[in-house]
Amino acid sequence: MKMPKEVNRYCPKCKKKTKQKVIQVKSHKTRATLKKGQRRHERRSGISGYGGYPRPKPEKSKKWGVKLTKKLDLRYKCSECGKMTIRKQGFRVKKLEMVGAK
Ligand SMILES: [Zn+2]
Repeated sequence: MKMPKEVNRYCPKCKKKTKQKVIQVKSHKTRATLKKGQRRHERRSGISGYGGYPRPKPEKSKKWGVKLTKKLDLRYKCSECGKMTIRKQGFRVKKLEMVGAK
C-alpha cells in the first residue's frame, strides 16, 4: 500500500485543515504484556523456542492465531503547531510505502 508523506488533515489545535506529516511508529514489544497463560500455551503448543514438543513446530503461515501482517500505528504531525494526532484505528497491510507529496 502506498501512503503519502504529507496529508491535508484537520488539526484540532489550529482548528483548521493543515498539512500534516505522516509518521509511522514502530509497534511496542509484546513480550512484557503477554499473560502468563499465553506464555504457557506458547510453550505447550511449541510455538516458541526451538523444535516443537509435543507437536512439531508449525509453519509460520500455518501457525494458529498468528497473523502475517502487523497493524500499523500511524501518527500525524501538524506542520504549523507540531501537534501529533493519532490515527483512530490501525489497519493491516503487508507493506507500506511512503510516497512523496503529490
Ligand atoms: Zn496544528
